[in-house]
Amino acid sequence: QLKNALFTNITHEFRTPLTVIKGMTGAIKLNLENKQHNNIENSLEIIDRNSDGLMHLINEMLDLAKIESGNMELNLMQVDIIPFIKYLTQSFHSYAEEKEINFSVHCDIEHLEMDIDVNKFTAIITNLISNAIKFTSKKGEVYIQIDRIRENHKDLISLKIKDNGLGISKEDQAYIFDKFYQVDNTSSTIQQGTGIGLALVKEFVELMQGSIDIESTQGKGSMFSIKIPI
Ligand code: ADP
Repeated sequence: QLKNALFTNITHEFRTPLTVIKGMTGAIKLNLENKQHNNIENSLEIIDRNSDGLMHLINEMLDLAKIESGNMELNLMQVDIIPFIKYLTQSFHSYAEEKEINFSVHCDIEHLEMDIDVNKFTAIITNLISNAIKFTSKKGEVYIQIDRIRENHKDLISLKIKDNGLGISKEDQAYIFDKFYQVDNTSSTIQQGTGIGLALVKEFVELMQGSIDIESTQGKGSMFSIKIPI
């Protein structure tokens, strides 16, 4: 049953963008035949966006395979992480606006130089924020809190991503970091995704010697907290 559900989900995630791309190439051909060039740019933009989505999905699956074989390494680089996080969150404002979600980022520090793996850090943040927006209904709230903290003689960066959306039951919380696991949301309208995102997030956070925790109440919302040593 699990295998079937997995194939259905994943093939669906591939088929949707492919259908759009196919539709757009058809439209471009027709436009060229009729010597109409005005809509082509828009079609190409849509093809671009959907191919990016497919590429992202494939890269996530390859990353999972790499982790399974124990070949995933950190590629560290020193960056000022605060402006970098702010930059990453910027691209979510329009997605949040579409759903009329109140999206805000709170941070009392302006600079924090640390070594990070830029690509993996980006994957962590974007997965958690896009989930928070995806699983929160219209006019909801998504809140991000960034702090520098000290615990057990260690300096850490703490990131909290909080939403007042669907929430996750205690039973499901035990499994959501498992690869391909998705909460059965059949009663709701949200049925997209692959169940890969959180599995990757957890693996990446642990590779950075950090930790991830979840606090959630069904129907009230969730808060994902990550701590990564500086
Ligand atoms: P995907 O989003 O592709 O389904 P993830 O691994 O990112 O996969 O998430 C696994 C499951 O955890 C989701 O299907 C969803 O049911 C649940 N989930 C994740 N984040 C949230 C959230 N912020 N609020 C409610 N449910 C969530």
